[in-house]
Amino acid sequence: MRIMGYVTNRRQVDAQALLDSIQTYKHLHQIPEPVLLVVHQDLFRNGNSFVFGLARESVGAGVVSTSRLANEYYGRQGSDDDYIDRIAKEGAHEIGHLLGLPHCSDRECVMFRPDTLDELDRKKKVLCPACREQLGTLKSAS
Ligand SMILES: [Zn+2]
Ligand SMILES: [Zn+2]
Repeated sequence: MRIMGYVTNRRQVDAQALLDSIQTYKHLHQIPEPVLLVVHQDLFRNGNSFVFGLARESVGAGVVSTSRLANEYYGRQGSDDDYIDRIAKEGAHEIGHLLGLPHCSDRECVMFRPDTLDELDRKKKVLCPACREQLGTLKSAS
């Protein structure tokens, strides 16, 4: 797959353009299932200097960037556990969107939208009871 949307002077990839690429790829290869891509490139979107990830539920396409998930990015001591925890949280978050869940105001819920690494770390790897219930409703409706 060819990843579109790299912006040279920002050294970042436009997350919306990347989702377009996934959409095209899915169409080309006739993949009806949702696709979540994990990339090492740093992502941004119009209006946000960076995003940890992005999903487009209507086409079943999501992306997670590992770029800002490692301690080393922030000049801290590296930790595989931290790194894997964050990828799991971001992955679960985008999958939640692909299943139809919106953002949640509960700061510990995996569907909370973090602006910083600390906010991401404060989240748990699971849905809050309200989101879990909502997911149950979404599932039974489809
Ligand atoms: Zn989100
Ligand atoms: Zn929630």
